[in-house]
Amino acid sequence: MRNIVCMLGFVLAGMEVHAQECGPRAEPLVRVHLENFMTVPTAALARAKGVAAGIFAGAGVRLEWKEGEPRKSQQAASCAGLADEVLEVQFDETAATRFPRDAMAYAVPGKAGICIHIFYNRVVAAHSRDLTPVLLGHVLAHEITHILEGVARHSEDGLMKAHWSSSDYMEMSQHSLPFAEEDVQLLRAHFHRPALSAGR
Ligand SMILES: [Zn+2]
Repeated sequence: MRNIVCMLGFVLAGMEVHAQECGPRAEPLVRVHLENFMTVPTAALARAKGVAAGIFAGAGVRLEWKEGEPRKSQQAASCAGLADEVLEVQFDETAATRFPRDAMAYAVPGKAGICIHIFYNRVVAAHSRDLTPVLLGHVLAHEITHILEGVARHSEDGLMKAHWSSSDYMEMSQHSLPFAEEDVQLLRAHFHRPALSAGR
């Protein structure tokens, strides 16, 4: 079994960053606003959030989950060289017909507002129901990484592969797929954080 993880839109202008008053923080913070989250069963969503947060924690980036749209004032902030991000993710029950049949998500780096769409029915259909929460966590982490990297690219290995194979699904059922080294480098560049680790 092999699935396209996602489709990428055109890269538009860089993310808008507004100065905002905030205190010192040891690690970059990404606030992820989930919209239409009731599409996903509560327990599955909780597990998925844990998986995605764990993947980013391994790279020294903290995810904070929010429900619903961000307020205008929260849309982006930058504090003392540590760029904090605010991302909007929408869960769609179905995908538009223009997307390949096996794409599970859609991301548009650089777009204001909702920049990630997750096609939840396709995540459910991609593998066994037992794996759905873990797979959803990986799809979330994959798409969030696209937005943070800000470029339309995939990696040969790990979380950011364009296609996950049966062995990738097997691996993620046991432990999270790692970031490839080039993804760590791109995240590091994004946050200007030389101390970010590969999280393996
Ligand atoms: Zn992708």
